[in-house]
Amino acid sequence: MLNTSPAFKSNVRAALDDAGLQKALARAKKPFAETRTAAVGRLPEFEALRETAKGIKNHTIAHLDVYLDHYTRQVESHGGQVHWCRDAADARDAVLEICRSVGARTVTKGKSMISEEIGLNEFLAEQGIEPIETDLGEYILQLRNEAPSHIIGPAFHLNREDWEESFRAAHTHLPSDRVFPEKRDIQAEARAVLREKFIAADVGITGANFLIAETGTSIIVTNEGNGDLTQTLPRVHIVLASLEKVVPTIEDTVSLLRVLARSATGQEFSVYTTFSTGPKRAGDLDGPEQYHVILLDNGRSNMVGTEFQDMLRCIRCSACMNHCPVYLTVGGHAYGSMYSGPMGSVLTPAIFGADQAHLLPSASTFCGKCESVCPMKIPLTGMMRHWRERAFERNLAPATTRYGIGVWGFFARRPALYRAVTRMAAGAMGLAGRKRGRFGWLPFAGAWTTARDMPAPEGETFFARYAREQRGR
Ligand code: SF4
Repeated sequence: MLNTSPAFKSNVRAALDDAGLQKALARAKKPFAETRTAAVGRLPEFEALRETAKGIKNHTIAHLDVYLDHYTRQVESHGGQVHWCRDAADARDAVLEICRSVGARTVTKGKSMISEEIGLNEFLAEQGIEPIETDLGEYILQLRNEAPSHIIGPAFHLNREDWEESFRAAHTHLPSDRVFPEKRDIQAEARAVLREKFIAADVGITGANFLIAETGTSIIVTNEGNGDLTQTLPRVHIVLASLEKVVPTIEDTVSLLRVLARSATGQEFSVYTTFSTGPKRAGDLDGPEQYHVILLDNGRSNMVGTEFQDMLRCIRCSACMNHCPVYLTVGGHAYGSMYSGPMGSVLTPAIFGADQAHLLPSASTFCGKCESVCPMKIPLTGMMRHWRERAFERNLAPATTRYGIGVWGFFARRPALYRAVTRMAAGAMGLAGRKRGRFGWLPFAGAWTTARDMPAPEGETFFARYAREQRGR
């Protein structure tokens, strides 16, 4: 479980100095945005679909208890079990108990951010159970002992040479001088190695994009098909999901899937959309003998009824981070959380506490791009502002910020004084900077001027200029 959010500032400095990361970010930033724009452009009703999707989730969250109860009864009616877990420790213990009950030694895993959230891999390994990631991105991260840096492209921060080097180091049974001329050569090697693991696994663990209350079904979307093998080959299938994943009906789910794929990867639909409803039934050729759902709260129910409730609409498409200038400059690891970018800046303090993650909501220019592309119309910047307010009220914000805002607040409450002081400051700075037109250094603005110059004001405040132009009309 990665949580270095308190070290956000030093993480950012390290990210900016990491040439490999900067290369990976430069390569990856355009395709996500371009494919999304193209996919949205091909669907004239996309805006209407966004409204529908928002309405579905708002309705569900307003009746969360009803739909979760209905979902649980449906799962049980199909022979599955739902384990309600208050926090990460509860969820880990529930998984362990299931694994121990069947004598599991090896567990295959489809991609699951909840697994990252509860630190499942480290925990299982400590208990003598080998977890094996089967999503290609997650698999290489496991080989490298790294955390995901993106919610749908976990190895977003790696370059081709990193993959090749890691495969040569890990798959020592293969010739060390082999080359990978094409991307598909890497995929073929992973496929051959992972196939053995799929067959050997006692338990398969997947995440869930949606849980359908109407039928007790869990849904995962993947582009690799690893989720299907993870959940159908082992004797036991465990679904890890947070409680806001519940959706009333199949029809509602289809609406959400349509906005999800377009917003995430620019696809009309993901390559694999896999429904699973309970264990194998009489006459089924394959499927697990046991089906368990770990339903995790971990702070989410505390968000209901607060200014952060809208965040529970999130469908983890990643569009907000794919368009965020901050995320695309520092990458996901700098956030110190499995949830990064704008959605992570709202969700991480809710899950791990504001004292741990209060710096993340400040990692935004408030340009608003995240909100404009969010298929669920989540007011991300407004919620980041609420976290900033809470950090300020609890004295968590750095002293310089608190005193700075305090001084600004003093003047802002006295408009005449504010105008007089800003007029003097703008005039003085305009005079001092008139030769070069910019400042290379300014007191209290070192964080700005170490990386770029500050343009010199023209010598007049906005108010003064506005008043002058009004008079001249
Ligand atoms: S906040 Fe919106 S854009 Fe970001 S991951 Fe969630 S649904 Fe997607």
